[in-house]
Amino acid sequence: MRPARRLFLLFILGMLLSVTASWTCAMFAKCTDGKLIAVYGDDSVKPLPPDAPAEWHIRSWHHAYGVGIDYQLITECEWMGSLPGVRQGLGPQRTLTLVRVGWPMVAMAFSERYREVQTPVSHFETVWTSGIEVPAKRFPAAGFVRRLPIRPIWWGFILNSVIYAIAIGGVISMLRAVRRWRRRRHGLCEQCAYPTGTGPACPECGAGAHDVPAAATIPP
Ligand SMILES: [Zn+2]
Repeated sequence: MRPARRLFLLFILGMLLSVTASWTCAMFAKCTDGKLIAVYGDDSVKPLPPDAPAEWHIRSWHHAYGVGIDYQLITECEWMGSLPGVRQGLGPQRTLTLVRVGWPMVAMAFSERYREVQTPVSHFETVWTSGIEVPAKRFPAAGFVRRLPIRPIWWGFILNSVIYAIAIGGVISMLRAVRRWRRRRHGLCEQCAYPTGTGPACPECGAGAHDVPAAATIPP
């Protein structure tokens, strides 16, 4: 196979692995550490978390992370124990979750916007979402749903794809080297595994013929 074509195929495989890894993280990765910044009353979280909508009055920002996952919950609600909760007369009380997943870099993201609905019982209503919903364990903090992300974070996605492509290329080269070594050891042609005997070139596929000096193969 031509080198350019081989590299291209390796990169495509790397991209597929990058998506697979990100989706695996989206389903199973756990947040193991994090911080919660919450304010009570009329103040707003300062400084504002990245990705916070400028016009929002942010009262709680929950940033959690773990291997393969970075989870942010940005809300106008006040934090009540382990959940953002509604309080009368606080305005719209919108919530945004932003989840970035992937390994070794975060490579794909989904986000979701909720609105606190107060009647008849206070609950969150999804206003807008990106990502495919899957039956998976919810995030422990606040119980928000997990989704399969469909939006790439380009720098992470390309970097992961390159890393995976190099890894796949390395494994393929190693397997080929082992195969060649085994064939050589058993007196077989490295290319087609045909018994080579004592001749300089493989009688089946001709591999190795180029090693023979021209004078030896062309009769005078
Ligand atoms: Zn051969």
